[in-house]
Amino acid sequence: MNKLLFNIFALMLAFALALALPASAFAEDENPSSSDSAASAKAEPATSVDANAENIVDPTQRADNSFIYDTTIEDILAETSLHDGRIVQFVGEAIGDRVLDDASGKYCWVTIESMADGSDANISVYMTVEQAEQIDHFGRYGVTGTTLQIRGTFNQACSNHEGLVDVHATNVGVMARGVEHPDTLNLSNFGFGIFLIIIGAALMAAFYFVRERMR
Ligand SMILES: [Zn+2]
Repeated sequence: MNKLLFNIFALMLAFALALALPASAFAEDENPSSSDSAASAKAEPATSVDANAENIVDPTQRADNSFIYDTTIEDILAETSLHDGRIVQFVGEAIGDRVLDDASGKYCWVTIESMADGSDANISVYMTVEQAEQIDHFGRYGVTGTTLQIRGTFNQACSNHEGLVDVHATNVGVMARGVEHPDTLNLSNFGFGIFLIIIGAALMAAFYFVRERMR
């Protein structure tokens, strides 16, 4: 009889443990994760600007937004809120065409595309017509546009230009002139095709020759 009571008691204990354990395990899991998220909320997330070794802290600089981020078009577009309202400096290729700003006639838009291989990241730069006159070539198929260094204020949503993502340039410098690449016909690209045509012609000739012989 005592043994039976002991067994029932053991079963009840096991049942109580089974109920209690997942709850306590869950409670333990929850605490570290909540303190983790609290800690990460306090610390600012690392950005590409932090990782840039050339971005040296200058203690004499005033805490305003007049300093320059020497950056790339990719980095600006990847972190638009970080660069919003800042003076940025980047290098890129002038592509497409100059678009005159109708309102003033003094300003125009130039699309600047990233120079990075395989990247077509681009940004609209608002500059004076005079600054745009430095551009000798606009990039398109067969033409590499003028390489420009742009310095200006980046706007995540420009209040003057209907919320457009743009850069209002203050300095536009030419890093390299544009280059035209005239297309040349390269016959070696057609080598395999020509080989197949010759094989096909030979087979047709053989077919007609054999058919004539069969008559
Ligand atoms: Zn604008």
